[in-house]
Amino acid sequence: MTPTDSMVQRAQAVFTPNYRQAPVVLVRGQGSRVWDAEGREYLDCIAGIATCALGHCHPALVETLERQARELWHVSNLFFNPRAVELCEALVHSSGFARRVFLCNSGAESNEAMLKLARKYQSDLGHPERNEIVACHNSFHGRTMFALAATGQPKYHHGFEPLVPGVRHIPFGDVAALEAALTDRTAAFIVEPIQGEAGVFPAPAGYLAAARELTRRRGVLLCFDEVQVGMGRTGKMWGHEWDGVAPDLMSAAKALANGYPMGALLASEEVGLHLTPGSHASTFGGNALGAAVALRSLQLIGEALPNALRVGARLTERLTALRSGGRVVEVRGRGLLLGVVVRGIDAGAVVALARQGGLLCNAIGETVVRLAPALTLTEAEADEAVGKLGAAIAAAPARAP
Ligand SMILES: *Cc1c(COP(=O)(O)O)cnc(C)c1O
Repeated sequence: MTPTDSMVQRAQAVFTPNYRQAPVVLVRGQGSRVWDAEGREYLDCIAGIATCALGHCHPALVETLERQARELWHVSNLFFNPRAVELCEALVHSSGFARRVFLCNSGAESNEAMLKLARKYQSDLGHPERNEIVACHNSFHGRTMFALAATGQPKYHHGFEPLVPGVRHIPFGDVAALEAALTDRTAAFIVEPIQGEAGVFPAPAGYLAAARELTRRRGVLLCFDEVQVGMGRTGKMWGHEWDGVAPDLMSAAKALANGYPMGALLASEEVGLHLTPGSHASTFGGNALGAAVALRSLQLIGEALPNALRVGARLTERLTALRSGGRVVEVRGRGLLLGVVVRGIDAGAVVALARQGGLLCNAIGETVVRLAPALTLTEAEADEAVGKLGAAIAAAPARAP
C-alpha cells in the first residue's frame, strides 16, 4: 500500500463523509507549488480554495506567525490586543467605506454576523418588522443556519429545514426583480460581486450601482459578500471596487490571513455601532496570532495586485485562445478568479486529468473549471497552467450526448 492509500483509508475511517476529496495527500507547499505524499509536484491553481492568495508558506508570513507565536496567541475579548487593533485600522483604511470591524474566524461566521446586524439595526431603528433578507438564486454564503438560509442553492438546504425564516431569493443580476423584491419589510440585500460557487458569474455592469440606489431609496442595507472575491482576488483589493459602489456592510474571510482561519465583518459607522455590547461575540475573534498574519497578508496582497491583474489578463487571454476543437466556450471572471466553461466534456474529468498532469484546480458543476491561483503566480507559471489545462481538456473523453 502506498503512503497515500494508507492515509486515505485512515481518513475514511474517521472523517465524517461530507467531503469528496481527491485521492491526494498534500504534505508540503511553497509559493504556487505543493507536493504530495508520493513526492509528486503540483502547480496549485486553486490556492487552498482561494485562501492562500500569497502562495503557500510565504516567508514573510512564516516570520510574522513565528514571531507572534512567541509573543502572544489569544487573550479573548475580555481584553485588547495590539494586533487586532492594527488589523481593524488597516481594514478600515483599505475599504474606504467602513469605519467599524468585527473579527471572527470564517466566511459563514462573518455573513452570520452581517445578517444578524442587519436585523438588529432595523430593529433598533424601531422597525422590528423590517426583518426580511433578500438574496440571490445560486448564491453561496456559508453553512451556518442564517448564512445557509441566505444561500440560494436548495441542494444545500435539504435535510436541514426548518431554515431561518424571512429570506427570499431573486434572480442574480436582475434589477427589476430586485426593485420588486424590496419592500418596507426588507432589512437587507446580500449579494456577491462575483458569484463564485455558482460558477464564477460577475455581476452584470451597472447591477451593483442599481442595487446601491434602490436599497438607499428603500432604507434597506446593502451587504456585499466578499469572502471569495475580496482580498485581491479580482486584482483590486475588494471585488466591488470594479463597480465603484460602496455597501453598508461587507464580509471577508478566505484569503484574509492567507489560509489561517480569519473572518471579518466591515461596517459603516452608522450601522456598525448597532453591534452593541453583549449583542454578538466570537471567542477566537481577533486573536493575536490570526490578526498578526492577516495584517501582514493585507499589506503583501496590496503589493501583489499589479501582478494579479497582469497575470490574470495573460491567463484569460491564453485560456480563451484554447479552443481545443470548441471544447472551451468561454472564460469568465476578473483578476485571478476565473471560470473556464467547457462543452461536450465533463469539468470533473478535466480537473482529474489536470491533477494527474500536475495541475490543481476545481470543478463547479459539470461545465466550469475554476482557477483561483495565488496572486503571486508568475507569467511562466500561468503559461505552464494553460499548457497543463489545455492538455487535460484535449484528453478528456467526449461526454455522451
Ligand atoms: C467560501 C465562501 C463562504 C463561506 O466561507 P467559510 O469560511 O467556508 O464559512 C461564504 N461566502 C462566499 C462567497 C464564499 O466563497
